[in-house]
Formats: sequence, C-alpha cells, structure tokens
Amino acid sequence: SGMSLILQGEITRDYLITGFVAASLVAPSSLALINQILRTLKQTQIQSLESTVARHRLTIEMAIESAQMDVWELDLVNNAIKYNTARIKVHGFTESDPPRNLQVWLSYIHPDDIEEFHRRMQLAMLPGGGIFDYEYRVATGTGAWNWVRTRGGIIQRDATGKPLLAAGGTINITERKQAEAQLHASEERAHNLSRLLRLITDNVTDMIWAKDTNKRFLFANKAMCDRLLNAKDTDEPIGKDDLFFALRERNSHPDDPEWHTFGELCQDSDAIALENGIPMEFDEYGNVKGRFLRLDVHKAPFINEQGEVIGVVGSARDVTQQKAIEEKLRLASLVFENSSEAMFITDDKGFIVKVNPAFTRVTGYAAAEAIGKNPSMLRSNMHEPSFYQSMWSELQRTGHWQGEIWNRRKNGEVFAEWQSINTIYNPDGTVHRYVSLFSDITERKKSEERIWVQANFDPLTGIPNRRMFRDRLTQDLKKAHRAGMGLALMFLDLDRFKEVNDTLGHDVGDALLVEASQRIAACVRESDTVARLGGDEFTVILAELNDRNSVERIAANILQSLSCPFQLGEETAYVSASIGITLYPDDADNLEDMLKNADQAMYVAKNSGRNRFSYFTNAMQEMALYRLRMLNDLRSALGGHQLQLHYQPIVEISTGRIHKAEALLRWNHPQRGVVSPAEFIPLAEESGLIHTIGDWVFAQATAQAQEWSVRYGDDFQISVNKSPIQVQAKTDQCKWREHMARTGVSGRNLVIEITEGVLLDNSPQVTTELLAYRDAGIQVAIDDFGTGYSALSYLKKLDIDYVKIDQSFLRNLVNDLSDRALAEAIVVMAHKLGMQVIAEGVETQEQLDLLAAMGCDYAQGFLYARALSPQDFELLMARQKG
Ligand code: C2E
Ligand code: MG
Ligand code: MG
Repeated sequence: SGMSLILQGEITRDYLITGFVAASLVAPSSLALINQILRTLKQTQIQSLESTVARHRLTIEMAIESAQMDVWELDLVNNAIKYNTARIKVHGFTESDPPRNLQVWLSYIHPDDIEEFHRRMQLAMLPGGGIFDYEYRVATGTGAWNWVRTRGGIIQRDATGKPLLAAGGTINITERKQAEAQLHASEERAHNLSRLLRLITDNVTDMIWAKDTNKRFLFANKAMCDRLLNAKDTDEPIGKDDLFFALRERNSHPDDPEWHTFGELCQDSDAIALENGIPMEFDEYGNVKGRFLRLDVHKAPFINEQGEVIGVVGSARDVTQQKAIEEKLRLASLVFENSSEAMFITDDKGFIVKVNPAFTRVTGYAAAEAIGKNPSMLRSNMHEPSFYQSMWSELQRTGHWQGEIWNRRKNGEVFAEWQSINTIYNPDGTVHRYVSLFSDITERKKSEERIWVQANFDPLTGIPNRRMFRDRLTQDLKKAHRAGMGLALMFLDLDRFKEVNDTLGHDVGDALLVEASQRIAACVRESDTVARLGGDEFTVILAELNDRNSVERIAANILQSLSCPFQLGEETAYVSASIGITLYPDDADNLEDMLKNADQAMYVAKNSGRNRFSYFTNAMQEMALYRLRMLNDLRSALGGHQLQLHYQPIVEISTGRIHKAEALLRWNHPQRGVVSPAEFIPLAEESGLIHTIGDWVFAQATAQAQEWSVRYGDDFQISVNKSPIQVQAKTDQCKWREHMARTGVSGRNLVIEITEGVLLDNSPQVTTELLAYRDAGIQVAIDDFGTGYSALSYLKKLDIDYVKIDQSFLRNLVNDLSDRALAEAIVVMAHKLGMQVIAEGVETQEQLDLLAAMGCDYAQGFLYARALSPQDFELLMARQKG
C-alpha cells in the first residue's frame, strides 16, 4: 500500500526515500523493497530522479554502512549470492572471499542452529511465507562463533509462485548476544542465590529475620516463623510486625495472659539496635506458646549497598536449655567452692583432679598439694585393707558408697569423716569421674559420745544410770527369753548411808558411793550390769543365769564386800546393804514387774534387819497388801484397846537385881493375834500414827513407872522407846513435859531409848530434846548400838547414859571372836566415857558369862524373861524376891 501511495504522488519522493532508509536501518530486509521501489521510481520518474537516486544511494549506503549490515541478494535460480555492501564482516570473511552460494553459507552455520535455519528458510520460501528472521551462529575464520541476525525475504517469484530471488541483510549481533548471556547468567545467579539463601536460612535452627525501619518483616526464616511467630508460612510475616503475631498468640489463649510475652520485647530491642546503629546483643526471655524461652538475640542495622539504614537484621538462638545448664553449672560450682563439706573429684584412675576450699580446711592440704595425688594420701591406717576393698567393690557395683572413714590430716591428726562417693559415667558407660564429699564428724562423734555417756552413765560413779539400766535389762530379758535362760535382778540399798553423808559430809559420801559401786562391780561378771539408780540405790543384773545358787553367792559376796570398812581419806566409814532379789522367769517376765519385785524384796531385807538379802516371792506381794490392811487396823487399835505395854526386865549383871524394865508395845489384833512391833511400828511411822501411839505409850509407861517405883524402889526405871519421828517432832517436848508435870512422875524413873540415827541427824531439835530430858532428870539410852555408824565419844558429848549393845553382837558373841572383841571394846570405851552398857538379846548363860567377864553392866533377854504383861512382870518380881 505504501507503493501505491508513492505511485499516486501523494508522498514526496524525498520523504519516501528518507523513510525507506530509516526503515532499512531498522529492518534490513526492506532492502529488496527499496530496490523494487528504486526500480519502480526508475521506471516512472527516471529522469527526474536519477540525480536524486545517486544522492540517496550514497545516503542508503551510508545508512547500511553505519548499521554495519551486510546486504545480500540470493539468486535462487542460479544459486548465487551477491553482496550489495562493500564489506563482508559479519563472520570474519574477507570481502574477496564471501560464500558465493547458499550451500557454502549453510556450511558455516553452527550445527545446533542449522536445523532451525532450514525450517525457517523453507517457511519463507512458501508463497506468502513472510519474512525470514533468525539469530544464529556462524563460524568465523578464527575458529570462534559469531552470532548473526539475518532478516530477508523472497522478493521475486515466477507466475507459479516459485521463488526466484531473495534479499536481506545480516548483522553481527555477537556483542549483544554476549551481553544478553551475561545478563541472563547474572539473573540466574541472583535467583539461585536467593533460593539458596532461603534454603540455608530455613534449614538453620537459629531464627533469622530482617525488618524495615518500621519494624515490619522483610524476611523471616522458617525457624522464626515456627518457633517465635507461629506464622503459617515464611511469607506470612512479610509486612507484619512482631506485635501482630504476639497479640494473635495471646488472643488464642485468653485464659493465659502469659502465653506469649515476646512481641513488645522484640520491638524494643529493634528500636535500640536501630537507634545505636551498631550490632548489639540481647538476652531476651519470656513465654512462647506457654513455655519459657530464653533467646540469645543479635541485632544489627540493615544497611543497603548505598550505605542507607533500611531496617534491622537479626538472629536469635534458643538458649533456654543451655542457660539452664549454665545456671546449674554455675550453682554447682558455687556449691563446690562454698560448701562447708569437703569435696574432691578424681579421674577414673582415682587421681585427684579438683578439690574445694573446704577440703583444704579439713585436711590441711592445699589444692596444689592434692591435685594429681591419690586420696590414699589421707589414709590413717585405722582401717583394714578389706575395708577399702569392700568400699571399692560397692562403688563399682552400685556407683556410690557412703560411710564413716578415719583419715589423717596433713598435720598427722586422725579425724573421723562421713564420706559419700558418687560416680560420673561417660556416655559409653565407662567411669569419667568420682566425686567424693565428706564432713569432719570428729567433734560430732565426740559430743555424741559425751551426750551418750551423760545420758547413760552416772556422772559420780561412772557406772550405768537408770536409763542405761532399763535399756540393758530390756535387752537382757529379751536375750534370756531367746536363750531360754534365767536372769536375776538385784535391788541394793545401802543401809544408813544418809548417816555417813550427814556426819562426814557429802564429799566423803560421794567417795563412799564411788568405792561401793566398784566393790559391787568387782563381785559380778563383765557381762553383768551394775547401775546406780540414784542416791544409795544400786541395781545388779545377773544375765544368762543358769545356776540359781550363784545368785545367793554373789549377793553374799556383795554384802561381805560392802561391810568392810571404807577408808575415805582421813575417815573410816561403815555401811551395809539391803538387797532385794527377783528372778526371771520365776517371779516376773517383764521389766516393770521385775523392778517392782526387786524393790519390794529390798524393802523386806531392810525390814528384816538390814545387811541381808531377800528374795522376792509372790508371797511378798501378799505382804504388801497385808501391810495395807494392817495400817487400817492399826488406826482403830488404840480406840479398841488392842494396844498394851509389856515389860521386859533389865537385869543388873553383877547383882542379878531387876530395877529396870523396857516397855515394849504389844498389839492384840482381833483376828491375827499378837502382832510384833517390828511389824507395825514402821507402819505407824510411815502413817504418822506413831505420835498418837507414842504419846499413849509414854503416858502408860510413866504411870507404870510411878506405880512400880513406889513398889520396887525409888531407883526403879522404865525404858520407853521413842521413834526418831517422835524425837524430831517439835511438839513432842511440850507434850511429855506437860504430862510429867500433870502426873507428877519423877524423871528419875524414866529412860528414853533412841537409836543412833536420831543423833546423826544432828538437828538442833534433837539437841534441845536431849537437854530437856536431862533437865527433867530422864536418862537416855542408845538402842541397837553397833548397827549404825556412831562413835562413842560423840555419844558422850550428848550426855548419853546407856549404850544398848545390839542383839546381833550377842548372837555371835560366843563363836565370833571379832564380834566379841567389838563388844568388849564397847564396854571398855563406854565405861571410860562414863556410860553404862546394857546387852540386849541375852539368851544363854554362856553369853551372860562372857558379858559378865567383860564387865557389862546390864543384861536383857530371854535368858531372864520375855516382855511380860504388868501382871506377869509383877509375878516375876515377886518370885525374884522370894
Ligand atoms: P528394841 O527396843 O531393841 O527392843 C528389844 C527387842 O528385842 C524386843 O522386841 C524384845 O522382845 C526383843 N528381845 C529381848 N530379849 C531378846 C532375846 O533374848 N532374844 C531375842 N531374839 N529378842 C529379844 P519387840 O518387843 O518385838 O520390839 C521390837 C522393837 O520394836 C524394839 O526394839 C523397838 O525398837 C520397837 N518398839 C517396841 N515398843 C515400842 C514402843 O513403844 N515405841 C517405839 N517407838 N518402838 C517400840
Ligand atoms: Mg528398845
Ligand atoms: Mg534394841
């Protein structure tokens, strides 16, 4: 259509040509068209145009030249190529040697491009085939390939449409192609890089992200999305901020405001990093999805190639576990360093690798001295090798050991420690380390021992105390039960110990107790227990008893041993003991009953005259009940006129004259008959009845003395026994003085019998009472002399008139030379000190003869008479006279 516009003269020629030249620059294929136009122009306006054409040909040639284009014409009929341009540079051919036909041209084409070249060429050959346009490689003369672009088309066909002539241009596009390839490669590289980056960041466990200056995500890796943001995918965070995700999480758990507490925190540290403009580290912690999380966060300003800050980049590592471990380690090391327990760690071979300050404190070895050494450096040689062997075997078997070890300090001191050893294993099960800790328990052991001794032993005598005794007895009873053997329990009470204590002082008393305990212990086997219950009470457990008789022998030995004089410094003291014995299993089978039994038996021994032992039998139980009933009966005895005074004559040995009698109390019990005063006086004393009874006795005896002094002579005297309880009572004196005044009885006719014990109390009460007797003209006799502890010289000081030698001396007077010597000494001494002597319990002529030989003054006993009723006494006196 362009052509027809030209032909119609509607477009100027110049314009047309310029247009074609320009077009040809862009599309070299239009060369043929130009030629065709030129030919047409030639035909129609040949003359006018000729000069213009020549001018424009030049212009076109210039244009072609400047486009660096090879313009060609392919004669398909003759298979010849003509080049319209002067230079063939496209593929490095010289101008003289360009391919002159299609086959040669084709042979230069790159094998990869040739096929496509053919295809396109055939397309273009077809009627209406259009323009051939193809970029392809051709061989250069130098062996390299050049890229060329050829555009062309069929410009002439025959009537059948068969192509006759083709024309077009070829330009060298090698440079462009190279630039394109380069661009492509760099694009691909960039693409690969970003994919790689994504892969890398999504595969690391650390959280990685980048944000813009408004703290909106530009990038977040998978770890970030999964672990902190809880985002759907890695694209979701883009354009959103931390707070968005934090709030979404919190809202998903309205019940738990602590569900996600990280949002603000992240934004704060973003701001700080942005503000400071330098890389920074943050220790951030809070809750994420309900779990405590601790992050080690690194943030840095995000700076682009132009050096502008465009945001912040960061990474975070989950250090929750690591921090927990660090904290544990920190604590462990704090504990290790500051523990009061000594610790040391050895390697698997047992060599010390670390010690703590407490170790140095306890052992004296500095760390440097201990490290590399074996713990055997602490050995005390107080344990057998087998001790260490069993320790190691337990350690190897169970991984730990604990126990008490005696070790040695650097200064040589041996100390006790409580040690525990634990093993730390390698993952493969082999030993990595042994950790030992120990504390010095020497002091504790010592004080434990002290406390134990204090709790279980009597501080004075060093023998077991009541508590230990009970323990032992419990144990021994169990043992005896298992072994089917017997056991004896002795309860021992020193007789008249109080007197020693009071006269000689407590220090001497203490010394006596110590010695007594030693003497008792010497009488028994090691396996037996001697304990002090307190005061002068001791117990002896004879365990594993198979011979009943040995009990008696031991008891006798103890009595014998205790009756020997105690030499206590300057002083000599005499005591005896009363022992109660009970037997397992005969009497009882348990601790409490055994104790009760032994106590009762001891009481019996005391009451039957002391310095003896007594067995417990069930009958004794009855006795206790009996005493209780007796006491009740005694209360009504006085009112019921069951009490009566009997009188036992006291005979003057030298003359046989009776001018003294002792008033002895008799109780005619309505059911039991006559009850001995030895039985009921203690009951009266215990119950306080003794005062009423005593007053009655005094009144009764004084009346009798008054009567008999008239009948038997002015010097007739009646002895009245006074219980210590009476003498010590303040009211006693007034009562008897008042009584004497009322009855007008003379003190000359009365003697008061008191026991040594009363004097030993040394109370002012007793002294004034004694003075009152003297003032009233009443004489005083010491009853049962020789059984207790008192010196004659002491009695003299107290103005005592008579000494009554105890029956027990009389019993042995004939056979026992020492008792005889003692009796004799008493007589001699008493006389020297102006006292008279009355011998009690004289039963035989032999005894009397001996007493007479000694110069004893009076005798009282069954040899002459028992205590008689007043009537019988009077009969006796009458008989004497006659
Ligand atoms: P006692 O004062 O030493 O009295 C002497 C005891 O020896 C009396 O026992 C007497 O019967 C007993 N006796 C006398 N001659 C012989 C003898 O040849 N052989 C033996 N085996 N015994 C002899 P009795 O009457 O049973 O009195 C026992 C104790 O009771 C008295 O010992 C005295 O301490 C106390 N007693 C008696 N009457 C009274 C009293 O009225 N008041 C107080 N407080 N005690 C009294
Ligand atoms: Mg008497
Ligand atoms: Mg007596």
